Amino acid sequence: MSESNPARTITGEDEVVDLCRDLIRIDTSNYGDHSGPGERAAAEYVAEKLAEVGLEPQIFESHKGRASTVARIEGEDPSRPALLIHGHTDVVPANAEDWTHHPFGGEIADGCVWGRGAVDMKDMDAMTLAVVRDRLRSGRKPPRDVVLAFLADEEAGGVYGAKHLVREHPELFEGVTEAIGEVGGFSFTVNENLRLYLVETAQKGMHWMRLTVEGTAGHGSMTNDDNAVTELCEAVGRLGRHKFPIRVTKTVRSFLDELSDALGTPLDPEDMDATLAELGGIAKLIGATLRNTAAPTMLGAGYKVNVIPGQATAHVDGRFLPGLEEEFLADLDRILGPRVKREDVHADKALETSFDGALVDAMQSALRAEDPIARAVPYCLSGGTDAKSFDDLGIRCFGFAPLRLPPELDFAGMFHGVDERVPVDGLKFGVRVLDRFLDQC
Ligand SMILES: [Zn+2]
Repeated sequence: MSESNPARTITGEDEVVDLCRDLIRIDTSNYGDHSGPGERAAAEYVAEKLAEVGLEPQIFESHKGRASTVARIEGEDPSRPALLIHGHTDVVPANAEDWTHHPFGGEIADGCVWGRGAVDMKDMDAMTLAVVRDRLRSGRKPPRDVVLAFLADEEAGGVYGAKHLVREHPELFEGVTEAIGEVGGFSFTVNENLRLYLVETAQKGMHWMRLTVEGTAGHGSMTNDDNAVTELCEAVGRLGRHKFPIRVTKTVRSFLDELSDALGTPLDPEDMDATLAELGGIAKLIGATLRNTAAPTMLGAGYKVNVIPGQATAHVDGRFLPGLEEEFLADLDRILGPRVKREDVHADKALETSFDGALVDAMQSALRAEDPIARAVPYCLSGGTDAKSFDDLGIRCFGFAPLRLPPELDFAGMFHGVDERVPVDGLKFGVRVLDRFLDQC
């Protein structure tokens, strides 16, 4: 052949933007039921991209259309424990009228790729694909086995994605001891000499609850001092206004220590107004990790204005810090009082691991090599990810989806937000960092 093989000259940086745009254009909205249109198509797209470079991906369907793709890359030393890289392919729905560019258009404007999933998390899916394809095309094996999992259903708790695979196909993750996934590794520029990269080492746990009060039903015109609506509303009011005490966990403590050190000013977790003011755009992320929270979100009672119903219900989104579940539940019961019955509609655990070891060193040095003012720091995520499922297998999970962001971008607000977008430069940076990270993993 006289022509050079074009496949050999394509790099991960060349491909990542197109991969991200392609994935955004597959509408993988997750409505919390099985009506989402695109998880199967996304799983097939990913499988095709992995098969093109010689892997043997498998697609697992937990329910019609709810498909996830898994592949294993053999490392230089397959006797070492394996690393998992996981990403979800589903997204939360988007209402196109609210957006500047169509949420499923994958358009490029103002130096960014726009669309639902641009930061949560088709960016990392694309970066992973780009890096893996580049490495396999050029014959660069990772030092140990790497398992890739592109998962359905994360946005509705992972029942038809990560949880399904962990329960039904745990053999896929055999030998895996550590994992990287979403909501970590992004930058927060402190000043011209320092950019923090927040690596997620902890997550809050959750209790999504239904509260019920039973009362005495009756005619709305008559006296009734056992009105379920009144009782429930008082309890919900107390809970909604309650400020749970500040609890500085190990992870939040070390985040604040790193930041104090970086800023040259002590940060007092008890004076959070001042501390959060220093944090700018990431205050939203950090503020919720200082205490347990319980947000009333839904109310239900009655069917006619002149009928006092016998029952009233509310739903509450409760989140607790690692190690504080018992305290949280005791607080809830005290605040709600004896009339309120509390049941979980969905609950999941909190996670916390330490910020040390060879894998953390690999993150730190990969970031520094691409950004001389980088400093990786641990942080606690106020939400939850598929990491909770992989923790069931004893896998130590980190949020590490590296992105260098312009300081003015409201990154935290991008998650599930309108006009979600990711800088093209950020994607390319992420590819370079992940590639270096895989060299040393
Ligand atoms: Zn996500």
